[in-house]
Amino acid sequence: MSLLKGKTAIITGASKGIGKGIAEVFVKNGANLAFTYLSSVERGQALEKELKEHGTQVKGYRSDASKMEDAEDLVAQVIEDFGVIDIVVNNAGITKDTLLMRMTEEDFNRVIEVNLNSVFNMTKSVQRTFLKQRAGSIVNISSVVGVKGNAGQANYSASKAGIIGFTKSVALELGSRNIRCNAIAPGFIETEMTAVLDETTVSQWREGIPLKRGGSPEDVANACLFLASDLSNYISGQVLNVCGGMLT
Ligand code: NAD
Repeated sequence: MSLLKGKTAIITGASKGIGKGIAEVFVKNGANLAFTYLSSVERGQALEKELKEHGTQVKGYRSDASKMEDAEDLVAQVIEDFGVIDIVVNNAGITKDTLLMRMTEEDFNRVIEVNLNSVFNMTKSVQRTFLKQRAGSIVNISSVVGVKGNAGQANYSASKAGIIGFTKSVALELGSRNIRCNAIAPGFIETEMTAVLDETTVSQWREGIPLKRGGSPEDVANACLFLASDLSNYISGQVLNVCGGMLT
């Protein structure tokens, strides 16, 4: 398949997990790819090398998605290196889970900064490029807990629900310029983020999912490919639940 042939995409937080899965599916589909990582420089460089084997232009950038200045620099640098940006996938995210009783203001604010401000920072920074082109697709990685809430994740759920409101507003605001903005709400996806959980909890989660398994990064990546590509040209402002049937 080459659904993204000739297109240039930016993916934030692609050094591991879902972001890495999206990066792999995108280059396999012919995309030129700019991706970011935060601290894991070695991983970022290794990924750049691995992704280049598919024959498209690939470059990794160290960039903190929670900082507006970094987002602006990134977009300017990608334009210089690639000449164009067609797709932005806002994937970078963190958790700092605890009950509200124990949640500090710092835990709350940091999760909002990394998960929600990052989406604003990148969208704002790429807006002018997309407006000039009169084209662009933005895919924001939210979560099922942004749709339905979750005990012990008030900060994370708020950030992910915020992404949904932001996505719908941007879709309304920029639709007339042929700029699309959609969100994906993954359910339980088995990555390093979830590997820290104990096996009993994980088995219980799997049992509660209609498809009886956790999702893979590739499951999310395939949905992302659809929303990034021209296959979804008439789809904007939507939230696609990729959750094995958890949300109906
Ligand atoms: P992960 O921890 O494996 O990967 C997160 C990525 O984000 C890493 O590459 C990390 O370097 C990057 N990152 C973190 N802070 C950053 C920052 N300030 N600047 C730039 N990059 C930063 O997690 P994952 O499971 O792959 O999650 C990816 C996205 O999917 C997140 O937004 C997460 O909230 C969302 N999500 C995950 C699940 C799940 O079950 N794993 C479910 C729903 C949503």
